[in-house]
Amino acid sequence: MIMSGNGDGTERQFHLELPLTIREAWLQASSCLCASGVEDGQHHAELLLRHVLGWGRAAYLSRLQELLPEAAAAAYEAMIARRSLGEPTQYIMGEAYFYGLRFEVSADVLIPRPETELLVEAVLEEAKLLYGERASLTAADIGTGSGAIACTIAYERPEWQLVAVDISLGALQMAQHNAALLHVDERIEWLEGDLIMPLQGRVPVDILISNPPYIPESDMRELQREVRDFEPHTALVGGADGLDPYRRMMGMLAYLSERPRMVAFELGQGQAREVAALVEQAGYTEKIRIVQDLAGIERHVIGIRPL
Ligand code: GLN
Repeated sequence: MIMSGNGDGTERQFHLELPLTIREAWLQASSCLCASGVEDGQHHAELLLRHVLGWGRAAYLSRLQELLPEAAAAAYEAMIARRSLGEPTQYIMGEAYFYGLRFEVSADVLIPRPETELLVEAVLEEAKLLYGERASLTAADIGTGSGAIACTIAYERPEWQLVAVDISLGALQMAQHNAALLHVDERIEWLEGDLIMPLQGRVPVDILISNPPYIPESDMRELQREVRDFEPHTALVGGADGLDPYRRMMGMLAYLSERPRMVAFELGQGQAREVAALVEQAGYTEKIRIVQDLAGIERHVIGIRPL
């Protein structure tokens, strides 16, 4: 293995001296990633190698002693070089999994996170309690990004209509592409604009869902380089205390002909009380539910208003 860079981290090379078995290539890539400060380097080295080979885990494990084909080696070298500079594995592979579904991702969109799956799950649960199993509802996903939330709900609830909003045209295009791949695009309306403003003058929505940018400006520096240097800042930063998007959305409700019956937000650590208070002040007093993620962090606030 040869690793070289010019010291400022802008040009790192990773070279495999063939012939090598798949296992040897993986070992060399793992140590390159670990040396570059990539957390869990072995895991990422395997994901990228399997991506290059197009193999599932079982095939990969049973073929570790085979020789790595030359074309695969070249592609793998380039991917490991990118990963060693901090670029997230999902951007390099161009895909991420959410709720068991495949989403294509690019640097235009936030990589969907596992905790957001819990938001989708909680919304589906609360909707069932409120409206019953077969209701045909309209839900809006504000700041849809990759389309993870909107597409998953459309996929899980074939009788629902969705509205997906984003201020970034690049994100909307990616979300639309994902909706088409999942065959749910016909039930999603796409709107470009600022938070819930594009919902003005349209058919009222029953449920408003959003995983807005909520990182306080001053925390950006301390984020992992994978996030800070590669994910879109529009999708991350939520003003000085991270709560701007929630305040603005609650304020914008006044412009809608009818307020959604339910609002459901993802938020950052330590923001649940304040977001719950904003939601309650906006009239969502029938029920406030706070959902914890798997690490025990209060991650989502769901509010329902009385009829
Ligand atoms: N709605 C998308 C997600 O949850 C994007 C969120 C964002 O960009 N802040 O993954």
